[in-house]
Amino acid sequence: MGPFEFYNPTKLFFGKGKLSTLKTEVPKYGQKVLLVYGGGSIKRSGLYDQVVSLLGECGAEVTELSGVEPNPRLSTVHQGVELCRKHHIDLILAVGGGSVLDCSKAIAVGAKYEGDMWDFVERKAVPQNALPLGTVLTMAATGSEMNGGSVITNEATKEKMGWGSKLAYPAFSILDPVHTFSLPKDQTVYGMVDIMSHVLEHYFHLDTNTPIQDGFCETILRTVIETAPKLIDDLENFELRETIMYCGTMALNDMISMGLRGDWATHNIEHAVSAVYDIPHGGGLAILFPNWMTYNIDVNPERFKRLAVNVFGVDEAGKTDKEAGLEGIQALRDFWTSIGAPSTLADYDIDGSDIEVMADKAVRFGPFGNFRKLQREDAVEIYKMSL
Ligand code: NAP
Ligand code: FE
Repeated sequence: MGPFEFYNPTKLFFGKGKLSTLKTEVPKYGQKVLLVYGGGSIKRSGLYDQVVSLLGECGAEVTELSGVEPNPRLSTVHQGVELCRKHHIDLILAVGGGSVLDCSKAIAVGAKYEGDMWDFVERKAVPQNALPLGTVLTMAATGSEMNGGSVITNEATKEKMGWGSKLAYPAFSILDPVHTFSLPKDQTVYGMVDIMSHVLEHYFHLDTNTPIQDGFCETILRTVIETAPKLIDDLENFELRETIMYCGTMALNDMISMGLRGDWATHNIEHAVSAVYDIPHGGGLAILFPNWMTYNIDVNPERFKRLAVNVFGVDEAGKTDKEAGLEGIQALRDFWTSIGAPSTLADYDIDGSDIEVMADKAVRFGPFGNFRKLQREDAVEIYKMSL
């Protein structure tokens, strides 16, 4: 492994009933709270009423920003920044899935910046200050509840890009698996694909001597594979929701990836697809990841074999590393199909007409990926394989 620094300041409150922690956490940051949420799922589930009532008990003055889109938009970030300035907000409280959390992170840094928050996404400026952020997570997927990353869509330019900052980590995050009971089956599946994809992005690295990190990754992958088929038939099962929620946080809070550089090319090419077609992130990953793997197996066939054997139980006897690795890739594809994830771009009615546009977006910051540096023409090939 390589030398590393580890930093993760998020205070995590995990488990049944932890929502009441709002009463002790919120007053630490001030009285004026911007409550950010999405398209209404928290109103339907009753979580909104609980949060508002707890904020009332703290004596908080609440301003609301609702309607954060899946694949959150820059214009919504701008609205949030305006509200923070107008109401002198002390704390942003995000209640929802990764999109609500990511949007809130962008608002948190945007509110303390004179220019346009999009400058941070374009790497034209670096955040120097941010409002504190608390989160109540309702969907296990992104790990945004315990990391400093965020993905924003600029709808005017049709760009979707990630950015990150040490200042964007939530100060606290509340994770009660009960809050995910109402998540429908399709979104539950997308979330689990995203979780596995985060682990796979870590797993395809070029570092050596990483037995602990690789073992952590394999354990999370096996756990999702074991849990997912049960969960999609039993969406209100506390223990299954709890397991997946913990997997989601661990998959992308940097704990399993200390000392290694993961790949992240598949996330990059997926963001380009979502930018143009506004599809669910997990759905895009289910289509693209197996094709990224097949395209890159020759970089290190042994690593693909290891995944096949340790995670999918492929019998390696009498097979080359590449043969066993390819069986593993097929097993991953079959697994995702078995739980209802899409497997081709055609599943979202996407044909090849925008491949060049998407490839341009994928190389916005130059060649990308760490396991193997991909050029524009590599992205084109992977999109073609995914049609
Ligand atoms: P999401 O976009 O936050 O939510 C998807 C849908 O699920 C929304 O329609 C939402 O409805 C609904 N939903 C959420 N919780 C629910 C619940 N408990 N019950 C019923 N419906 C619920 O999904 P996500 O996968 O968590 O976030 C995706 C975004 O995160 C993408 O933009 C992706 O690129 C990004 N991402 C970020 C990171 C990171 O590290 N920051 C990593 C990977 C991906 P409502 O709007 O009505 O609530
Ligand atoms: Fe993701």
